[in-house]
Amino acid sequence: MSDHKRRIVYIEDEPDSAALIERILTAFGYDIIVAYTGHDGIKAAIEYQPELVLVDLDLPDISGFEVAMHLREVGDLQRIPIIAITSQDSDEYRGMARVAEISSYITKPVSVELLTRKIEQYIGTEDLLVDINVDADKEFYARETVQHLINKIRDLESSNEQLRANNRELVEQLVNNLRKAEATNRELLRLDHVKDDFIQRIAHEVRTPLTVVMGYFNLLFNDPDIQALCQNQREINNYMQFMQDGLERMRILVEEIVMISRLGTGKVEVAITPIPPTDLLEAAIRPFSAALEQRQIELNLYYDNLPTYIHGDADLLRLALINVIGNAIKYTPDEGEVSISLTQVRDNLLRIMIKDTGIGIDPDEQQRIFETFYSAENISLHSTSKTNFQGGGLGLGLTIAKAVIELHSGHIYVESEGCDNERMPGSTFYIELPIDPQTQANRQNLYQSFNQ
Ligand code: ADP
Repeated sequence: MSDHKRRIVYIEDEPDSAALIERILTAFGYDIIVAYTGHDGIKAAIEYQPELVLVDLDLPDISGFEVAMHLREVGDLQRIPIIAITSQDSDEYRGMARVAEISSYITKPVSVELLTRKIEQYIGTEDLLVDINVDADKEFYARETVQHLINKIRDLESSNEQLRANNRELVEQLVNNLRKAEATNRELLRLDHVKDDFIQRIAHEVRTPLTVVMGYFNLLFNDPDIQALCQNQREINNYMQFMQDGLERMRILVEEIVMISRLGTGKVEVAITPIPPTDLLEAAIRPFSAALEQRQIELNLYYDNLPTYIHGDADLLRLALINVIGNAIKYTPDEGEVSISLTQVRDNLLRIMIKDTGIGIDPDEQQRIFETFYSAENISLHSTSKTNFQGGGLGLGLTIAKAVIELHSGHIYVESEGCDNERMPGSTFYIELPIDPQTQANRQNLYQSFNQ
């Protein structure tokens, strides 16, 4: 930098910016004359004949462009370098700068390096009217842009690295959670199997002594001496009847628990055979003949347009029907009516309708009664025998019936106006069975739905 002071008129209305740039340029060895308006700036330039004019384009009285145009009309100042400072950089501004013969311009915030370099470049130059898009500018801007881009890329790389680290952490967390969920699932499946094994073992353990007790009880009950005693003594007869009822209930309970557990684990063997539909129905109502007679419930049977056979597992279908017919009897008061009809409704569909004149079922219970252990009735109402009015039950009968019907690709549902112990609106259960089902696929579905 040369020793002698080089004069610059600096026109800037903003005192802080003016003071700052003045200080910087003074430090760089320039002699700075500051003017705060356009008019003062023109006056100062004429008076002090500087080597360069630095002008802010946005002045309060006249714009920096006008200042430049005035200066170009003053003889001595026609070729003076004028550098404009502006907060706006647009094609329009650049065009106006060219028209006003402004040598170059700098955008705010002003870079000290760029400002001093530009001033150095213009001071002492013969050809003072240098185009504002000089290569040096471009190079400088290009360098700044490249540096800026490099910084940006570095920033991006570091935030990418951060993101990758976060992602890694997230993936690790997910994998850990998945592992935990898998372990919990395995544990639940294990417990489920333990539960099924337990139920089956308990049922087996109870069934064995129960069979022995029932066997001896039947021997005793059928013994002529005991029968004579029962006939003569009403009390003994009643005790024996109670014992028989109790044993029968225990037997049914054990069978239901075993069945529900086996249906749930898909362990039920299905033996499909052709069955005459009337045989199926007769086998299902046979166990109830005594109860029907005793409670004076009228049983009406209707057959219409029947196929010769339906294909299914006779034992399982009989079990399903026993549960639904048993309920119709159980929830119908003495002297009521149960009607059963068998009809072939379509090519491959048999519909069994079981209608009673009992207490009925509330609409919002009609889906849930098919769930395991669901009992819409207050359990305390259940009396001893399954065939008594509102007699005993664990809430398994309809679950078993539904599982068996679905095992045969069939469908079971109920219609009832609602439950009313006074009015006895009754219920109608519909069982629809394909005459020839494809059971294999449905056993799979059933197993899945039980284990969800
Ligand atoms: P439960 O052994 O309790 O009878 P089910 O699974 O056979 O169990 O039936 C579930 C519930 O559905 C019963 O507790 C009863 O409230 C209701 N229900 C079933 N069938 C009838 C019916 N024909 N009339 C009225 N309610 C019935």
